[in-house]
Amino acid sequence: MKPAEFLSPTTLNDALELKHKHGAAARVIAGGTDLILRMRAQVLTPSLLIDLQHAALNNIKVSDKYLEVGASLTISEVLQNTRIEDLFPAIHMACRKFAGPPIRNRATIGGNIVNASPAADLVSPLIAYDAEIVLKSANGERTMPLVTFFTGAGKTLLKDDEILTQIRLPLSAASTNAYFIKLAQRNSMAISQLNLTTRLNLNRQGLIETARIVLGSVAAVPMRAMAAEAMLVGEKSSEDLFYAAAAQARQEVKPISDIRASREYRLQMTQVLVRRALLESIANV
Ligand SMILES: Cc1cc2nc3c(=O)[nH]c(=O)nc-3n(C[C@H](O)[C@H](O)[C@H](O)COP(=O)(O)OP(=O)(O)OC[C@H]3O[C@@H](n4cnc5c(N)ncnc54)[C@H](O)[C@@H]3O)c2cc1C
Repeated sequence: MKPAEFLSPTTLNDALELKHKHGAAARVIAGGTDLILRMRAQVLTPSLLIDLQHAALNNIKVSDKYLEVGASLTISEVLQNTRIEDLFPAIHMACRKFAGPPIRNRATIGGNIVNASPAADLVSPLIAYDAEIVLKSANGERTMPLVTFFTGAGKTLLKDDEILTQIRLPLSAASTNAYFIKLAQRNSMAISQLNLTTRLNLNRQGLIETARIVLGSVAAVPMRAMAAEAMLVGEKSSEDLFYAAAAQARQEVKPISDIRASREYRLQMTQVLVRRALLESIANV
């Protein structure tokens, strides 16, 4: 592994100034659980690492419309947060299925997003809750829906001088009926063969008002099965409806075969697990 200079700024502004000055030659390091492996494999060869541990990006607060989650929160910290567990339980479920405790203690929510693996476990629940992300640079900030951030496997819209600072979860999506499923070769310490989150919001008449079906590891980027979602909206939930929506979701995904699963297996399991997750989403209504 090529040695890189390591700087640990004590404010976010200092971190942003460093990114502004060094651009693509500098890489932000959070938990390092992805980055160090990619540096060892010479996929990434930054000359400077900017450590975010002291840049005050590990807080959670409630604003008027959002639960605001700092990008440097570790998976363990997200898992232990009772507000997230109560308001956005599918995120909590995903954290429980994430690696094992030693990795959870280092890996961050921001690193999981920016690494842009199609199999990233926190991304499908975040998209299902309509999460937005805040990207800052020395020149200002911009926000965007998380679902639009990914442009390909390992590729995002992050600019060379930007840092992901915050994930915003709309309170309007809180406490709706959601469920997360991870399919992997083992129960822990395994990367997803497929992961998915469904979220349903029912109105007073029991009709589905909002539907989200978000899948990971079945395309180059995490994706919503939007035609399947559209089939659910305005309908009364039923086993038949969920069966039809799951069959539609299968038509929308574009999986590949790789070392973890074949394309055919992923297609089949998309249909099986979307149906199961939809049923679980409304199990306690
Ligand atoms: C043994 C093992 C098991 C794993 N199991 C799982 C699993 O079950 N599920 C899963 O989803 N992943 C898993 N992973 C992958 C990894 O742990 C996660 O993707 C993790 O969330 C990455 O976070 P990090 O803080 O370590 O990121 P880092 O490795 O520090 O960074 C990853 C990338 O994001 C960039 N980055 C990080 N933070 C920011 C920021 N705030 N702004 C801009 N850029 C940033 C870095 O420059 C780098 O390119 C596993 C990894 C290992 C080694």
